[in-house]
Amino acid sequence: MKIIIIGGVAGGATTAARLRRVDENAQIIIVERGKHISYANCGLPYYIGGTIAERDSLFVQTPEAFSRRFKVDVRVLQEVVSLDPQNKTVQIQNLQSGETYTESYDKLVLSPGAEPVRPNLPGIDNPGIYTLRNVTDTDRIKKYINDHQIKRAIVIGAGFIGLEMAENLHQLGIFVSIVEMAEQVMTPLDYSMASLVHQHLKTKNVEFFLKDGVSSFRKEDDGVTVILKSGRELHSDLVILSIGVRPDSHLAKDAGIELGSTGGIKVNENMQTSRSDIYAVGDAIEYPNPITGIPQITYLAGPANKQGRICADNLVFGKQRKYTGSINTAIAKVFDLTVASTGVSGRTLRKANIPYESSITHSGSHAGYYPGAIPMSIKIVFDKQSGKLYGAQIVGYDGVDKRIDLLATVIKNQGSIFDLTEIEHAYAPPYSSAKDPVNIAGFAAENIVQGKVKAASWRDIEKTNTADTLLLDVRTPDEFALGTIHNAVNIPIDEIRNRFDDIPKNKRIIVFCGVGLRGYVACRILSQNGYEDVENLSGGIKTWEFAIQKQSNEDIYERDYVGIDDHIYQTGNIEQTPEEEQGEQLTLDACGLQCPGPILKLKNVAQDATPGQIIEVKATDPAFASDVRSWTNMTGNKLLEVTQQSGVISARIQKAKTSESKSTFAAKPRDNKTIVVFSDDLDKALATFIIANGAASTGKKVTMFFTFWGLNLLKKAHKPAVKKDLASRMFAWMMPKSIHDLSLSKMNMMGMGSGMMKSIMKKKNIDSLESLLQQAQESGIEFIACNMSMDVMGIKREELIDGINYGGVATYVERTEEASMNLFI
Ligand code: FAD
Repeated sequence: MKIIIIGGVAGGATTAARLRRVDENAQIIIVERGKHISYANCGLPYYIGGTIAERDSLFVQTPEAFSRRFKVDVRVLQEVVSLDPQNKTVQIQNLQSGETYTESYDKLVLSPGAEPVRPNLPGIDNPGIYTLRNVTDTDRIKKYINDHQIKRAIVIGAGFIGLEMAENLHQLGIFVSIVEMAEQVMTPLDYSMASLVHQHLKTKNVEFFLKDGVSSFRKEDDGVTVILKSGRELHSDLVILSIGVRPDSHLAKDAGIELGSTGGIKVNENMQTSRSDIYAVGDAIEYPNPITGIPQITYLAGPANKQGRICADNLVFGKQRKYTGSINTAIAKVFDLTVASTGVSGRTLRKANIPYESSITHSGSHAGYYPGAIPMSIKIVFDKQSGKLYGAQIVGYDGVDKRIDLLATVIKNQGSIFDLTEIEHAYAPPYSSAKDPVNIAGFAAENIVQGKVKAASWRDIEKTNTADTLLLDVRTPDEFALGTIHNAVNIPIDEIRNRFDDIPKNKRIIVFCGVGLRGYVACRILSQNGYEDVENLSGGIKTWEFAIQKQSNEDIYERDYVGIDDHIYQTGNIEQTPEEEQGEQLTLDACGLQCPGPILKLKNVAQDATPGQIIEVKATDPAFASDVRSWTNMTGNKLLEVTQQSGVISARIQKAKTSESKSTFAAKPRDNKTIVVFSDDLDKALATFIIANGAASTGKKVTMFFTFWGLNLLKKAHKPAVKKDLASRMFAWMMPKSIHDLSLSKMNMMGMGSGMMKSIMKKKNIDSLESLLQQAQESGIEFIACNMSMDVMGIKREELIDGINYGGVATYVERTEEASMNLFI
C-alpha cells in the first residue's frame, strides 16, 4: 500500500511513525513544505524568550533520522499544490528547484495544520509585524529582536500563545503591551477566572488593553505605530499578531472534499474525509465536540497526535478505532500562574443553550500546615439535575496540571461531579490535603445538585437591591472592617443562631464569606431554621472582588512601575550588583503589616545588621514595593532586587558600609520644596497651590503629598462608579465630591462664604483653584497620593485625576531629604 502524508509535524509525523510500526511493508511518503519535520511548535515561544537555549532542542527528529528509523520517504521543502481524488494523485512542487511532478497514492492523509489569521488591515505588511506558527517564523522573530534594539513590543491577541509570547518577550526585558478585542484574556476561561489572570498580569508590569482591536498600522522611522479602534495609538519596535488561526483546508476544498461549518475538513470517527481513501487529522479537521455536539476545530497537539495514531491503525487494519472527539484540555504558564481548562465553559454552554450550574472553590495546593501552600481557584460547570460534569477551569500556582488532568479524565469518561467526590488521590502534606481541591470542587457541587444549598454568582450581586435582598457577610467583624460588599450586613457565622431576629425571612438572602466555605455552613443553619430563599455566593468575596475590579491595565509605561494594588509607582530601575556578601543572610517576614509597618521593621533589622549583610524582606503591603526603593535611596543601603509573587513582595537589600550610608543624599543639592496637603479647606488649598506654583516658577522641583482630607483636592469632577464598602461610602457622602465642592475654613456660612470668595477672585482676575491645579500639573509639580490614607478612606485610584503618583511615607520622606522647605497645610 502506498500512502502519502501531507504535513510532517504533529499529526503527520505521528501517523507515519505509527504506520510503520504496524505495517513494515507499506510505502510511506511524507511531503512537508517546510525545512523541518516533527518539531516542537509548542516550544517556539520559549526559544524566543531564551528559556529553551538551544535551537536544536526544538527538533524531535531530523528528516534524515526519521527516514532511517522508520523507512519513510521524507520530502522536505516540497509542497503539495493540488489533489486529484478521482485519479488518486497529488501534484507536488519542489520548492528548491521549482519543478512540479505527480505522485500517485493508494491512501492519502491530510495533516496540513492551521494558518495564522492575518487580516487585511492597512499597514499590516510593514516590517516588524510577525505571526508565529513555525520554525521559520521563529527564526525571523529571533533575528529581528537580535538585530534591533527592541524596547517595546505589542502582542495582539491574548489567547494562550499570545500570552506565552508576552511572557517570553517580557523575560527579554522588553516592555510588553497586549491588545485584546474581547473583554478578557484566554477565552476558554469564564470571565471570573480570567479576572484572576488580569490581576496577575498587572503585577508583572504588563500593559494590556481589553475590548479594543487594531484598526491599522503605521510605519515609523523607529518602529511601528499600532492604531486601535478606540483611536489610541501605541508605538512599538515589534508586533506579534496572535489573533487566531484557521484550518489550512484549501487543498481539500479545491479537490471537492467536504468542509464543515467551521471551515475545517469534515471527518468521520475513523478519521476519513468525504472521500473514503483520504484521511485527515490535526488542526485542519472539524469534529463534533463530545459535550455540546457542535462541530469544532481543536488546535492542540495532544489530539493531533492521538488522531494520527487512530488514523494509522485504521489505514492498516480497516475501520477498527474510533475517535471520540476532543474536550480541548489545555494548559499554559502565564508568568507565575498556571492556567488550565478542560471541557466547555459556562459561556459556551450558554451559547449552546445548554442549562448548567457552576461552582467556584478556592483551595490550597497542599495541606495548609505544610509550608508553601498556595491558593488555587477551580471553577466547574455541570448539569444541575444529573451532576454530569461539563467543564473545569483552574487558575493557580502549583499543582494545577495534575488537577486539570483528573478533571479532564472524568469529563472524557462522561463522569459527573459525584465522581469528583470519590477520586482517590495520593496524599501527603507536601502534595495535597486529605481532601484534594478536586474533591472539594466535587463536594461543593454535590451540595448544589442535592439541593443542600443554592449558589449565587458574583454577577447576581450586581443585580440585587436592598428592598428584596439581604447580603449577609458571615465573616468576623475584623474581616468585615477590612472591606465588604456594598450594602452587606455583618453577622459572624458563630452568632447567626442567636440573631435570627436580625435576618428577615421575607427577603432573599445571599450569604458570603471569604471563599465560600463558612457561607455554606451559614446557609445550612439558615435553611434548617425556616429560611427558604438562601444562597451562598460561589467563590465568596474573593471571586467577587477579582471580577469587579478594573480589568485592563492601560498606559503604564508612561510611568515606571505597577504595584500589586493596581497603583502606578514612579521609581527608578534597579541596577545594583551586590558587594561582597558579609555574614549570613537575614530574613524578615513583614507580611500582613500595613504601611509604614514593614519599613519600620526593616529599619530595626537593618540597624542590627553588619555592613554588607543581605536582608531579605517579605511584605504584603502594596506600598512596600515603592517604599523600599525610597527607603534604600534615603539610607544609602543597596536595593538588590524587588520581586512579586502570589501577592507577596520580596525585596533583597544589602546593608551599606558605614561610609556609604546616606551617601546618595549627601551629594545632592537640597533645594527642592515639599508640601504635605492635609486639608481640603478652600482657602488653604488656594494658598497651597499659589505657593507651589510660585516655587515651581523659580525652577524648583516641587512635590505635593496629598494625605487624608487633602486627597479630596485630587478627586475627578466626574468619577466612574466604583464599588465601596459601607464605611467608605459614608466617608464619600460626608466629604467634598471634588475640588469644585470645597468649603472655607472660616465664615463658610453654609457655602455662601466660598461662593463669595470664588466670585471675588473671578472679578479680580485671580486664577480659580481648578486652574491653579492645572497650572501645577503643567509645570511638572509632582503629586503623590498617600496609599495608606486612600485605603483608610476608601478612595479608589479611578476616582482621582490622571497624572499622579502613589506612594507611602517612605516615598514622601525621600522627597523631603532633597528639599530645603517642607510645609504642612
Ligand atoms: P502542524 O503541526 O502545524 O503541521 C502541519 C504541517 O503541514 C506544517 O509543517 C506545514 O508546513 C505542512 N503543510 C501544510 N500544507 C502543506 C502542503 N500543501 N504541502 C506540504 N506540507 C504542508 N498545542 C498544545 O497542545 N499545547 C501547546 O502548548 C501548544 N503550543 C503551541 C505554540 C505555538 C507557537 C504553536 C504555533 C502551536 C502550539 N500548539 C500547542 C498547537 C499545536 O502545535 C498544533 O495543534 C499541532 O501542531 C497541530 O498538528 P498538525 O499536524 O495538524 O499541524
